Amino acid sequence: MAPNKPLQLIDRFGRVVNYLRVSITDRCDFRCVYCMAEDMEFLPRSQILSLEEIRTICQAFVELGVTKIRVTGGEPLVRKGALGLLREIGGMPGLRELVLTSNGSQLVEMAADLRAAGVKRLNISLDTLHPEKFRELTRTGNLQRVLDGLAAARAAGFERIKLNAVIMKHRNHDEVVDLVQFALDHGLDISFIEEMPLGVVDRHHRGESFYTSDEIRRDLSSRFSLQAIADNTGGPSAYYRVDGSASRVGFISPHSANFCGSCNRVRLTAEGRLLLCLGNEHSVDLKRVVREQPGDMAALKQAIVAAMQIKPEKHEFNIHEQPVILRHMNATGG
Ligand code: SAM
Ligand code: SF4
Repeated sequence: MAPNKPLQLIDRFGRVVNYLRVSITDRCDFRCVYCMAEDMEFLPRSQILSLEEIRTICQAFVELGVTKIRVTGGEPLVRKGALGLLREIGGMPGLRELVLTSNGSQLVEMAADLRAAGVKRLNISLDTLHPEKFRELTRTGNLQRVLDGLAAARAAGFERIKLNAVIMKHRNHDEVVDLVQFALDHGLDISFIEEMPLGVVDRHHRGESFYTSDEIRRDLSSRFSLQAIADNTGGPSAYYRVDGSASRVGFISPHSANFCGSCNRVRLTAEGRLLLCLGNEHSVDLKRVVREQPGDMAALKQAIVAAMQIKPEKHEFNIHEQPVILRHMNATGG
């Protein structure tokens, strides 16, 4: 008899889904202008998944062949119990990589514990190196605290730390060279992200602030020599290496270079919706499954396998129109 093949989640287009991103809270201590409106209302506690429900859903995914989980939010580290949850997910047999995306505000206190909990790689958002601009873009954040958190993370010995920077014309587009130099000086990778039209924001028009990855590469070429490399961390970034350095510069370009053909990911929102695509509303309510059939792992797995049939072929973002996707990035899990 043939040995049992490991389970795999496969969609209608033959794409293997082996990567789950989990938003463990929609709450955040920052209010970044591209992510949220200033007066964001967060979900009531009863509507978001409990830590135990998140753990169960992650377990089901890992048993179905998912090898990489990214924990994100909102700001994942403001959720009470986040560390214990990460420890449990990190210990799941079959999971190869547990990674985290954070705004860095809690890392001074938590970086060492996160590493000990099994988090291998860390993404930290940093859009500017100027304290006042940082305050403007995040509305509530303190740059020095994030830089201290970054130092704590470097000391904690993560396999890799990557900065994420959302670049907006006339807000921070003039900082791309400095941000790359900062990454090089500190032995970090960096990815530039094109702003995505998720949810309604109140301070700017996204079409006007749109700055493409091509423009960023052009700006960087004044200082650095970038070589395209085939590195694939299982995410949407296209990577380049800066000549003479170990750091990589990535570009996440949902508008200018569609990455859907190789999509291997799905997202679990803070309220338990399994989103099959960042740029579409196709979803399955896994909270309902775990609440109506508690402890029934078979039913949960069946719902996840069935969900693969509605994973759309590609996103339909249009930066120049009002967003059709009304959920904000914090609820979605970036
Ligand atoms: N709070 C954490 C952080 O900021 O890193 C994790 C969640 S945040 C939603 C994840 C990533 O999404 C961040 O790098 C953030 O810059 C990015 N992001 C948020 N809103 C975005 C948008 N509208 N377009 C593109 N990226 C966005
Ligand atoms: Fe919070 Fe991250 Fe959204 Fe900024 S990008 S408001 S830090 S969830």
